[in-house]
Amino acid sequence: MKLFHSFIIFLLYSGYCCQLKGVEFVSLSQTSNIINRQHPMMINPLINQLATLSFANKSISTSKLNEMDELAIRLNQAEKYLVFILRANNVVNDKFNHPQHLAAIKFLNEAKELESSIGKSQLNSPLFSQLYLKLSKYYLAINEYELAFVERKVYLEKANADWNSEKDSAVKILNDKYKTDRKIKENALLQNQTKLKNLQIEQAEDQQEVQIRNFFIFITIAVVFLLLMVRQIKIRQVLKHLAQTDSLTGIFNRGTLFKKGTVLTANAIESKAEMTVFLLDLDHFKQVNENYGHDIGDEVLKAIAMLGCETMRSRDIFARLGGEEFVAVLPDANLEEANAIAERLREKIAAFDFSEYGLKHSISASFGVAALHQVTPKFDTLLNAADEAMYSAKDQGRNQVRSYPLSH
Ligand code: GH3
Ligand code: MG
Ligand code: MG
Repeated sequence: MKLFHSFIIFLLYSGYCCQLKGVEFVSLSQTSNIINRQHPMMINPLINQLATLSFANKSISTSKLNEMDELAIRLNQAEKYLVFILRANNVVNDKFNHPQHLAAIKFLNEAKELESSIGKSQLNSPLFSQLYLKLSKYYLAINEYELAFVERKVYLEKANADWNSEKDSAVKILNDKYKTDRKIKENALLQNQTKLKNLQIEQAEDQQEVQIRNFFIFITIAVVFLLLMVRQIKIRQVLKHLAQTDSLTGIFNRGTLFKKGTVLTANAIESKAEMTVFLLDLDHFKQVNENYGHDIGDEVLKAIAMLGCETMRSRDIFARLGGEEFVAVLPDANLEEANAIAERLREKIAAFDFSEYGLKHSISASFGVAALHQVTPKFDTLLNAADEAMYSAKDQGRNQVRSYPLSH
């Protein structure tokens, strides 16, 4: 009774497990691909064909197995294992035939003896573990319930182990795939980050380039502006110089003479210092123009300007009043000193060799000298006094220096 009870429990348990895993008798053709994929020991395709045949026609399958034995086809241990299962399957024709079941059990137990040389995972696969299912079935057929129970239990354990290993490998494959996917995504992310960094670097370089370009543009504009300013200043200086000077001789012109003369007069009055002027007029200059031409007359005027400048002291002014008349303003010089300077210049003019201009005779000038303290203290008054003295020199025969006041 106890035995029967155990058997019922066993049947229920095995049936439940088989349902769970979908394990039934597995044909060789159905599972050969699994073997090939998972296990190193190869299975000859001929054995697959015989397995199919074993279900269709057991006697032909048996005769084919015998032919294989006669041909002495070399089989590996796994193939031999499967051949024993096939022989056991083929030998049972009648489910109530006791001897047939005993013969089948004998084949299956012979197969078991090969297990030590076959890999455990291969043995756990449905193709191989079916041996225990069959064994359990055959034991059940001959009423060996305990043995049937044991074999069935072994079968279930193997099926479970196979299922677990399948599950583990599936999980491993999924994990590997997940890791690979993650790595690919991480790589893609890194690549994108690198691209972004490169873009940022490029942008920074572009900005730097623009800044450098702007800096150079700014420098260029500043330099051009500076050059223009310098040019403008120079032009102003030239214009100022042109406005202040006489275009023919290059010495101060009439306007500048009056400006500077007025300032110097004011300074002398303020500091109670002496100041004198002299005015010179070239003698018979009209004849020079008439005899030698206006251009030669100009050259003579330039030479007079040059002689006048070189005779002056550093603080003196020598200017062209107009025509062939020149004026010297001499700050801090008394009448005597002024007379001496005028006399020196007169001598220089008279002694100057104008033959290089084609002149056959010398040039002379008449001088009039006046001191500030002699007149109403104003520059033009002072100049008029000097002019008056110069006319006196003309009257007296020219080429001489006369000073104001005049003693007739
Ligand atoms: P005087 O001895 O009385 O002063 O006689 P002068 O001939 O020098 O005097 P005048 O006033 O009659 O003539 C002055 C001449 O000076 C007339 C003019 O042709 C000449 N003259 C005036 N300015 C210039 C000039 O810029 N260049 C030249 N070549 N001649 C000038
Ligand atoms: Mg004159
Ligand atoms: Mg003259």
